[in-house]
Amino acid sequence: MGAPEPFTATADVGHYIAGAITPGGASRRQSVYNPATGALARQVLLGTEADVAAAVAAAKAAFPAWADWAPVRRARVLQKFLELLNQHRDTLAAMITGEHGKVFSDAQGEVTRGIENVEFACGIPQLLKGDYTEQVSTGIDNWTQRQPLGVVAGITPFNFPCMVPCWMFPLAIACGNAFVLKPSERDPSASLFMAELLSQAGLPAGVFNVVQGDKVAVDALLAHPDVKAVSFVGSTPIAHYIYETGARQGKRVQALGGAKNHMVVMPDADLEQVVDALIGSAYGSAGERCMAISVAVLVGDVGDKIVPRLAERAKALKIRNGMAGDAEMGPVITREAKARIEGYIDLGVKEGAKLVVDGRGCKVPGHEGGFFTGGTLFDHVTPSMRIYKEEIFGPVLVCVRAKDFGQALALVNDHEFGNGVSCFTRDGHVAREFSRRVQVGMVGINVPIPVPMAWHGFGGWKRSLFGDMHAYGEEGVRFYTKQKSVMQRWPESIGKGAEFAMPTAR
Ligand code: NAD
Repeated sequence: MGAPEPFTATADVGHYIAGAITPGGASRRQSVYNPATGALARQVLLGTEADVAAAVAAAKAAFPAWADWAPVRRARVLQKFLELLNQHRDTLAAMITGEHGKVFSDAQGEVTRGIENVEFACGIPQLLKGDYTEQVSTGIDNWTQRQPLGVVAGITPFNFPCMVPCWMFPLAIACGNAFVLKPSERDPSASLFMAELLSQAGLPAGVFNVVQGDKVAVDALLAHPDVKAVSFVGSTPIAHYIYETGARQGKRVQALGGAKNHMVVMPDADLEQVVDALIGSAYGSAGERCMAISVAVLVGDVGDKIVPRLAERAKALKIRNGMAGDAEMGPVITREAKARIEGYIDLGVKEGAKLVVDGRGCKVPGHEGGFFTGGTLFDHVTPSMRIYKEEIFGPVLVCVRAKDFGQALALVNDHEFGNGVSCFTRDGHVAREFSRRVQVGMVGINVPIPVPMAWHGFGGWKRSLFGDMHAYGEEGVRFYTKQKSVMQRWPESIGKGAEFAMPTAR
């Protein structure tokens, strides 16, 4: 197989409404960069209230007929979409690398994890089966069924421009809803590409729409009375805002927020495995993953043993344009993100943490304008430091020392975030206690990034998720449908006269 083609399109990125790409009102636009070169690549049109209104109207018009399709017919459209996604996997991956910066193999992995959600959604006839009780009372049957909500919206972050939308729309439309996606304005192209594949797969116009944009489009979606539910993934302050605002408007909301994922390393762990796991999970995708490990909790004498090895590996990271075949880490998303991350490194030094590897000022030959920052490693970080408490969302790993398991677990449980966590140990009892007691939504035992597969659902605890239900999986089916209970009796049993006492089984 030859080298993948880089993504070089220059046309403005517009909206996708009622089955066609459109510039909409196009009063504002924003630059989209190739983070590896720092060059302006194209512009994205920022949706207006009128664009959102047009998308919601298209979705509302398409909804009744789509909801009436038999689930198995809806699944067939998704099966075709799945086939097209597999066929165009590398085009989509190159698009992601071109706008996000992550290395191509990681972008391929992202597309695969997105595809798994489409595979899950193809099982919708089975997933939508209700419960049935024959003879709840003499001559009466009762069943529950799940029906779609109507128009639902998804608002997604920059760090997974394919996978996170795929947590939402395949299942939402499989359930019979019509969807409006508001992707990140920083890497908007994947959303349009997927819209076109859905259309090629035979999805009726209006069932899936994309409005590009920023807060203006988000606020218009939150205020629109025809939007019945909102799925959000992004940072915690915005997740909280979306949850509060959406709920106030009477919408269903699931809002997934930020993270500060810890890895607890017990003294009996296989330290070779631990070093590999920490390097991959802290610096993969330049730390811009909600499941990245950003805190290593080193128990007992582990710190003295592994910090020098981590330092050696962090210094040796192959930092390149993500399209380079041997790249291990690419740039971060924007110039502002690089400045923010490096600002946190300055802060860590001021706070008194030991800077073991300094990623500031990283230069990649031939890519001097790129938004690169190197892998950074801090040791002797304490819980009161801001570099411990706050999400940095970059390639910065902080090491905290803990005297024993109890202290390590308390650290994790006292943290504001509870998205993902992992524990490396060879002791089954410790592993079991850890997974039972830890106050975090997704747990890995000797697994550094425990992102659940599509049929298990994804979601954190504490300030990493606002709302009641996790994304995708069976919780996703519940989120995108409402339950109806039907009680049925046929004429033979009618005619006993009005009954005034509470009906009970007879
Ligand atoms: P972000 O919160 O800045 O943006 C997310 C979305 O919200 C984007 O579509 C953006 O346009 C919109 N938005 C931004 N500011 C807004 C505002 N003031 N009002 C209304 N809408 C607004 O997040 P990001 O920088 O794109 O993504 C990174 C963040 O997402 C990190 O915090 C990361 O942990 C989090 N994340 C969480 C998960 C998870 O599953 N918990 C998954 C991926 C990313």
